[in-house]
Amino acid sequence: MLLVCSRRCGGKLFRALFAEVDIDSSGAYLDHRIAQAGYICLNCGSPALDLSEVPAEMQREADEEKAPPGAAVLCPVCETLVQVDSAMECPNCGAPLEVAGGT
Ligand SMILES: [Zn+2]
Ligand SMILES: [Zn+2]
Repeated sequence: MLLVCSRRCGGKLFRALFAEVDIDSSGAYLDHRIAQAGYICLNCGSPALDLSEVPAEMQREADEEKAPPGAAVLCPVCETLVQVDSAMECPNCGAPLEVAGGT
């Protein structure tokens, strides 16, 4: 984990908003776990960001932006395996291709 204040105020202390805290019968802190990401800067109160999560987050978004893997269909005429993304006809023989699962 690498927390930084979203306002870059330089604060070094943060509070986890969704943490479960284990305590003993007298209420003394024993342990904790982060139930859900969500932190604020204790210096200025702004939301804090976990930089270690950002690359994975961006990676996930980048993946989602990619077109879904094009369906591959066999040309009914020449049986060439064609990736149907933009072209809707067989590049080998020019036969129109049917994409399964259409409307
Ligand atoms: Zn701050
Ligand atoms: Zn073909």
